[in-house]
This record gives sequence, C-alpha cells and structure tokens, in this order.
Amino acid sequence: MQTYLITGGAGFIGSNFVLHVRENKLARVINLDKLTYAGNRDNLRALDADPEHIFVAGDIANPELLKKLFQQYQPSRVFHLAAESHVDRSIADPEAFIRTNVVGTFHLLEQTRLFWQQLSPTDRTNFRFVHVSTDEVYGSLSPSDPAFTESKAYEPNSPYAASKAGSDHLVRAYFHTYGLPTITTNCSNNYGPFQFPEKLLPLIISKALAEQPLPIYGDGKNVRDWLYVADHVRGLLAAAEQGRPGETYNIGGNSEKENIELVRYVCSLLDRKRPRASGRPYAELISFVADRPGHDRRYAIDCRKIQTELRWRARETFESGLERTVAWYLANEDWCKSIRNGRYRGERLGLIDKEDRSC
Ligand code: NAD
Repeated sequence: MQTYLITGGAGFIGSNFVLHVRENKLARVINLDKLTYAGNRDNLRALDADPEHIFVAGDIANPELLKKLFQQYQPSRVFHLAAESHVDRSIADPEAFIRTNVVGTFHLLEQTRLFWQQLSPTDRTNFRFVHVSTDEVYGSLSPSDPAFTESKAYEPNSPYAASKAGSDHLVRAYFHTYGLPTITTNCSNNYGPFQFPEKLLPLIISKALAEQPLPIYGDGKNVRDWLYVADHVRGLLAAAEQGRPGETYNIGGNSEKENIELVRYVCSLLDRKRPRASGRPYAELISFVADRPGHDRRYAIDCRKIQTELRWRARETFESGLERTVAWYLANEDWCKSIRNGRYRGERLGLIDKEDRSC
C-alpha cells in the first residue's frame, strides 16, 4: 500500500480527501495539520480506530518535523492542502497567509526535495507532489471574458490570492530547477460537508436557521464557479495518478452562479426541507452589506484540460450538489454547534457571532 503525506487534512477539503482515501483504502495517510481555527479533529472521527490514518498535529513551516515524517513514513505522494484560506481574514491579517502559504510551502517543497533526491531512480520517477491551489490567482473577469485556462497570466488581487500565487510559483520552480515531479491544481469554490461556517454557503445556512439576516456583499452579482468537494477530491487523485509532472490542471464544476442566485437557491431548499415556523420564505432574510475591498467580480474555470487528458468530470450538478450539502448541514447541526460554541477547540472563538446559536 502507498503512503500519502496529506497537509491540511483536518480542514474542509482536506478532511473530505482523507476520508475518501481511507474509506476506499487507497493508501496509508499521514495527516499533518496545525489545527488552526479552521482545523477540526471532529471531521475525522470516523477514522479514530483506523491504524492507517496517522494524525500529526504540526506546522508545515517546521523543517525538522517534516524531515522526521519523510524519514519515518517514506511517502510516495504529497498532497498539499494546508493553507490559510479565507479572503476576509487575509485582508484583516495578511501575515499569517505569507507565513503558511508562502514560507510553509517553501519548507514543504524543500524537505520533499531532500527526501525525493535520495530515493531510488524508480521511486523518484513514481513520486508525486500535488499542490492544491485556487482560481483566485488568475484575477477577475468581466462578464464577457472567456473562462480561465491554465495559461492565463496570474493577476492575484487579495493577499490570500497573492500568497497562493507565490506558492504556485515556488512549486513551478521546484519542478523546473530540481525536476521534483510536481502537479498544481487550480480549483473553483468548493462546497460540501465540513466547511467552516465562515464561508458563504454554511454561513447562509446557519444564519437562515437562526432567523438572522443573510449578509450578501455589494449587489450580490459577483460570480463564482461552484465545485462539489467530492468531485474535487476525485480530481486531485486523477491528477496524482495520471497527471503529467510540471503541469497545472484547472478543476471546476461548470456551475457559474451569481452569489445572489446561490443564496436564493439555498433559501428555496431550506423552505422545502426545514420550513420556517412563520411559513414565510427564507429569502426575505437576505440583506446586502458593504462590499469587500478589492472584491473580484467574476471567476470562471475552463477545465477542458483535465476533462480530456485525465478523463475527469464533475459528477454533481449545482442542484444535486446543493441538495446533498444542505441535507448534510441539516443532519449535522451538532457539528456546526461545536464550532459555534468553540467546543471543537476547547475554547470560544471571538470570530463567531455570540448571538448566532443556530449552527
Ligand atoms: P481550510 O481553511 O478549511 O483548511 C485548511 C487546513 O490547513 C486547516 O485544517 C488548518 O488547520 C491547516 N493549516 C493551516 N495552516 C497550517 C500550517 N502552517 N501547517 C499545517 N496545517 C495548517 O481550507 P480548505 O477550504 O480545505 O482549502 C484547502 C486548500 O484548497 C487550500 O490550499 C486552499 O487554498 C485551496 N482551495 C480551497 C477552495 C475552497 O473553496 N475551499 C477553493 C480553491 C482552493
């Protein structure tokens, strides 16, 4: 059995990835996660008795720890998902984004290179480093612009996007300079189970259930592409197994929607699945708030390369993925509650509304 070193495996996408790998017994998993506010061990409870899931609480910016993990576990794949990932936080406090996304990625690449260089020629050839990045590095599109392809010039506009762009460039340099077999994926907005409730979709669900205003930035017409997290997970595995080293692959859901459209759709699902006591529609809670500084207007992903080269396709449509997602949050209100009351970290988070008791 192969061994995967997965960073950020207690976060949203990382935990979905780890659970998929272990449920399908694809590999032994070394899960390295610093457990920042976004990391949640509860996401991985299903693996508590699994000896092939080894959780390590630690920082990707710690070269000694990385060296030890490489020597001890000899992974054949690195999937790098650890990051500071919330744009609003990057505007309030950019330093953490540089520290983890840029400096942390550098240390991970460097320790990977040192380990990889002493492997046998066959193991060196078979090794892969998959770097998980974002469509935000490409900048913002006007309504008539074509979707981002992999050759689109980078134009990051937020500290988050700039820090991810920096990490992408480091990954590229390690391929071109040292021959490290890296693959970068740039995906659109993910949604699905275990997403931290500061992000748009779980935030809207939790506020709606609490009968609180549903905050929408600006005029609500910012456009994002929506990718169901399980489809993304399959895309990362396809990239590792069939992708060409040195290449980048866009992963998208072919579901471009204005934020207001997404929120209205979620409201209509909640109207059906959990009607309000008043019988009134959740959409009447929608409330427009001052726009985020430098808010990118539109992202759109052209993912024909991964579709044709790796025969990957999103299985969920926008409607089927949202149906599953809303159902998951309604069935897992305890998970949300433990984040709201800080129990998941053994402390109360200042960043979550004290009044928000819904989820
Ligand atoms: P997340 O914020 O939910 O999880 C990030 C995880 O990384 C957390 O568990 C956190 O504890 C861990 N982490 C943070 N700093 C660390 C460090 N220094 N060392 C070790 N672990 C650390 O993020 P996510 O939404 O799951 O995103 C995963 C990856 O996918 C990120 O690289 C992100 O940039 C990228 N991405 C996410 C989306 C999305 O829609 N969520 C879209 C595009 C790209």
